[in-house]
Amino acid sequence: MKVFNPRKNWYKNFFQIAILLLLVYMGIRLWVDKTYAPDFEAYCPLGGLQALGSYLARGSLACTMTSAQIMMGIMLVVGIVFFSKLFCGYICPLGTVGEWLGKLGDKFKVRFTLKGWPDTGLRLLKYGLLFATFYFTLESSELWCKKFDPYYAVASGFDTDVELLWAIGAILILVLGSIFLRMFWCKYFCPLGAASNIFKFWWWFAGILGIYIIILLLGGSLHWIWPLAVISAGGFILEVWRMKKAGPGLVHITRSKETCIDCHLCSEKCPQGIDVASVEKVEHVDCNLCGDCITACPEANTLQINRRNMRWLPATVLTLLIMVGIILGTKWELPTVDEKWGTKEQIEQAGVFTQEGLKNIKCFGSASAFANQMRSINGVYGVSVFVGNQSVKIYYDKNVFEEEEELQELLFTPAKRVIRPIGKEVNELEKYTTTVDKFFDPMDVYYLQQLMLQKSKAVAFETEFACPVIIHFYYPVGEAPSAGKLKEIIESRTLTYTASGQEFNVKLNYELMSFDENPEILSRIDYIRAMYTPTVMKFNKFSSFTQDVLRQYRISMEENRALRSRYSYLVSHLSNDEGVVAFETWLDSLGTEMASIVFVDSLTTAGQIDAALHADSLRITYSGGRTGVVENPFSFNNRGEEADYPDNN
Ligand code: SF4
Ligand code: SF4
Repeated sequence: MKVFNPRKNWYKNFFQIAILLLLVYMGIRLWVDKTYAPDFEAYCPLGGLQALGSYLARGSLACTMTSAQIMMGIMLVVGIVFFSKLFCGYICPLGTVGEWLGKLGDKFKVRFTLKGWPDTGLRLLKYGLLFATFYFTLESSELWCKKFDPYYAVASGFDTDVELLWAIGAILILVLGSIFLRMFWCKYFCPLGAASNIFKFWWWFAGILGIYIIILLLGGSLHWIWPLAVISAGGFILEVWRMKKAGPGLVHITRSKETCIDCHLCSEKCPQGIDVASVEKVEHVDCNLCGDCITACPEANTLQINRRNMRWLPATVLTLLIMVGIILGTKWELPTVDEKWGTKEQIEQAGVFTQEGLKNIKCFGSASAFANQMRSINGVYGVSVFVGNQSVKIYYDKNVFEEEEELQELLFTPAKRVIRPIGKEVNELEKYTTTVDKFFDPMDVYYLQQLMLQKSKAVAFETEFACPVIIHFYYPVGEAPSAGKLKEIIESRTLTYTASGQEFNVKLNYELMSFDENPEILSRIDYIRAMYTPTVMKFNKFSSFTQDVLRQYRISMEENRALRSRYSYLVSHLSNDEGVVAFETWLDSLGTEMASIVFVDSLTTAGQIDAALHADSLRITYSGGRTGVVENPFSFNNRGEEADYPDNN
């Protein structure tokens, strides 16, 4: 007897449409809301598996990966081992696109199902890609598949991590492959598809990993590339050998021979091309419990899950897995970099200091740079750096650092920022002292600079370590706002600014804690001195020369002050003369910026230096060793003078 048979597989359609709508929403919001910075890979289980692999092999997390992705990777594995490839069947956007394009191919009758050796041979491709993806990711701590992943390329708008030609090639493979060959991407090209099939043979994966761990525990040394290669190669062999008998999962599609009328609609409708009508239990490696066959079957209770009416089971399990993954991922965070260089005893007795709100810590690179910086500090024995919530834990010697504030001071970089030039008519300035809470990071300095530029007449500010941070603001006399107005400015909750032609919106949470309404009065020259930061660069073996062989060529830099950020170009150019060994700037008694170009008397002359300063072009060596020639933007209207070194008076 026929019962109600919904024509659509709503369990699957709900997930597929919801995911695509979510991505469209993220894309539109990204376009209209510049404060929105979505991480399109935040919950990617393949990224999570790579991050976990990176953590186990190197003790660090790849790229911007966090525990959220790792938990999704673990949930993927749990889902496959106990149920099936639910992620592939229900929520993978590439699987959805491939499936829908396949329907287009069917409509025009151009889609084929590969069988025999072409099917077997092509399945090797995804294992090769799986090996390469893990190999390069673990080697570089950057997610290698970002270079060509069609999903990431499209969702991120082909951002800088994407190799344009690779990504376009992968998109073409996805589109054309899906139209002409059944589930081409999933069956033959997807590294996550390969990983998922390996987890269907979880005993193989667990066995090789177990042997590898035992070798390491016994003191052996074996590079992780070997278990990776064996697991990948073995996965391929198992997939083609046990294709129709991949098990032993706990949940299967079952067919009742008693009620089946052999109409073969189930086999026709299976997106994977599995011949459901010929088996009593679907154990095919490609089955992902999508349920399309159940929906297609005209006979009630013929196709079921484990011979029961549990069509709801895969979708429900998937929902639970996602929820558990998200909850655990947000509750627990693995450090991106976790390095301990102290002895076991030192670490056991170390104090642990936590600092949050480090906006500069954004990825594996900045996390590693932070760890390297801490290594050089006496009394620091290790760090754990968390990119996800931009915080750090520092393991320190309590005898060296008696107060945690000392460590906090180590992390703080005092800054001086000129917001706008002062007018020629300004002879005196007021210096107001404030304390501002939730302000710590160099990014905060940049945001405050933008904020004050837009909303106040402040000409400069400088920061000083304290808890909370001390900030001195400089105003021309009479231009300072009231305490209430300054509080309103500093406590702005959003900031919009433009950099490199792009508009950015940032959320802020600074709090003005105190404001000294009695300013210090400074003369113009004292203000210039207070805000001045000299440039000091030494090179060409400066320290190997004694002072008596050094002289200086002193020249005014007043015409070039707007080019301060490019002084390194001038210095690179001057250093081509091996007799030039240092470049230092300073202010003379009138507040004019001067440069001392230090040279070895016997190797070069002031005349040669002057000629180099006036050259039409600068010969530059960039940090990677590459050389180049650029037009000389510096101008020197007056000749310099030769003097002893040091003598800046
Ligand atoms: S056999 Fe059924 S559940 Fe499995 S993939 Fe095919 S249609 Fe989906
Ligand atoms: S669709 Fe149902 S009735 Fe038709 S062959 Fe498949 S299991 Fe049998």
